[in-house]
Amino acid sequence: MKTIEHRIGGTTTAAASTRTAPVHDPATGRQQASVLLAEPSDVDSAVAAASKAFAAWGDSSLSQRTKVLFAFRELLVRHEDELARVISSEHGKVVEDARGEIVRGREVVEYACGIADALKGSFSDQVSRDVDVHDFRQPLGVVAGITPFNFPVMVPLWMHPIAIATGNTFVLKPSERDPSAANLVAELYAEAGLPDGVFNVVHGDKAAVDAILDHPDIAAVSFVGSTPVAKYVHERATAAGKRVQALGGAKNHAVVLPDADLEYAADHLTAAAFGSAGQRCMAVSVAVAVGPAGDRLVEILERKARAVRVGPGTDPASDMGPVVTEAARRRIVDAVARGAEQGASVVVDGRDLKVEGHDGGFFVGPSLLDHVTTEMDAYRDEIFGPVLAVVRAETVDEAIAIINANPYGNGTAIFTGSGEAARKFQREVKVGMIGVNVPIPVPMSYYSFGGWKDSLIGDSPIHGPAGVRFYTRAKVVTTRWPHTRASAAAFTFPTSG
Ligand code: NAD
Repeated sequence: MKTIEHRIGGTTTAAASTRTAPVHDPATGRQQASVLLAEPSDVDSAVAAASKAFAAWGDSSLSQRTKVLFAFRELLVRHEDELARVISSEHGKVVEDARGEIVRGREVVEYACGIADALKGSFSDQVSRDVDVHDFRQPLGVVAGITPFNFPVMVPLWMHPIAIATGNTFVLKPSERDPSAANLVAELYAEAGLPDGVFNVVHGDKAAVDAILDHPDIAAVSFVGSTPVAKYVHERATAAGKRVQALGGAKNHAVVLPDADLEYAADHLTAAAFGSAGQRCMAVSVAVAVGPAGDRLVEILERKARAVRVGPGTDPASDMGPVVTEAARRRIVDAVARGAEQGASVVVDGRDLKVEGHDGGFFVGPSLLDHVTTEMDAYRDEIFGPVLAVVRAETVDEAIAIINANPYGNGTAIFTGSGEAARKFQREVKVGMIGVNVPIPVPMSYYSFGGWKDSLIGDSPIHGPAGVRFYTRAKVVTTRWPHTRASAAAFTFPTSG
């Protein structure tokens, strides 16, 4: 059986690792590989390789860096099919959906290709007689990324292209559940001409994460994953003096007003709730049906949920694949059962779904729960599976109050034909990313991605302008020429004149 190794300093290596974790094919339930789990000394080796590479990469020209990024972008296009199949085989999502995450991640590379513009400083002429001021930004050094299973290519791409474009070197610790794509990305970087040691991959679990959080030579940590781990990472890494961006979990609500086109709204809600088997941080897991249209909305949602075709990710006829592990499948089945026990009506029950010829696969069908209340576990927990909970509200104000009382604030959407209601919603809702008649409002790469409240710990969103700021620090320079024309030094505090 294949063993997935680390990529350190341009070579594929087991380093000192002996522990492994199984990597499954979620469509069959069978183990298809083992991934090495790094020891702290393996993290040391990766950081040493990255530190060595930083000496030259941190000093490289903007044109040298962008040349590599343009080549890398072309390789991501050329290898899209191969990469999508690798993602699908370990994650379970349908191949077309895996292509979608590659395309959205590639957009960050395209943004990073324009780093010469994004990094431009400012200049002020003659702030005082013969005195000018300018600022510029420099890389931090070695930075690290710790990423979740649900977007094994896109989420790391939110981080490393910008870190590398701004002159840093990078250590990635991807999810141990679908680790292979990260190694393929490392090979594409090498083929693009990225010097050895600028991008490294260390596979592992908590031991590798802790070694990263405590490492004295890592200047910054980017984390995306569940909220409890985001809080832990933020606390431990900031205590070690690092910059941290930490994006957490979500419970995304979509509000449907009575004046919405219900067929359109239900179509988009179905795709947003069940696409990728609900394992997206921007998946819609709660529909807030406002007013008397609620019953009609649930009827249409039921019809559409029953029509979702569930099968292996490699079958082009599948709309939705399996979930990532047997533990995830069980958690989702239990969540639906608890919803029923606590009084929700189970309109569509995906618990017993069987996919022919794939008995051992981690399949669970779409579930639709109606009359869910905010006290129920099905509402409170991030189920992270294909379960859509419908909560009823009387007014748009009540819908906004429900969303604002939720501890998460990643994404939200409103379906309406009223510009006035949409404007009120976007101004009053306490959520970082908002869609108006758009169910999964993931910002383009030239904006930044990040939620509010428990969906983002600390204060840095990811990619776009916030990413450039996160991976660099500024210097402001005050210059006097000709210096000899200056008046004598004064003992009072200098003011301009
Ligand atoms: P996770 O938190 O279990 O794992 C994320 C990373 O942390 C992995 O690399 C994992 O190895 C590591 N990790 C796990 N437990 C750890 C521990 N106790 N100590 C140290 N490190 C640990 O998340 P996941 O299950 O891989 O991904 C799903 C979660 O990620 C969901 O909560 C989802 O909402 C969230 N997510 C959020 C965003 C966002 O942008 N806000 C994007 C994608 C995923």
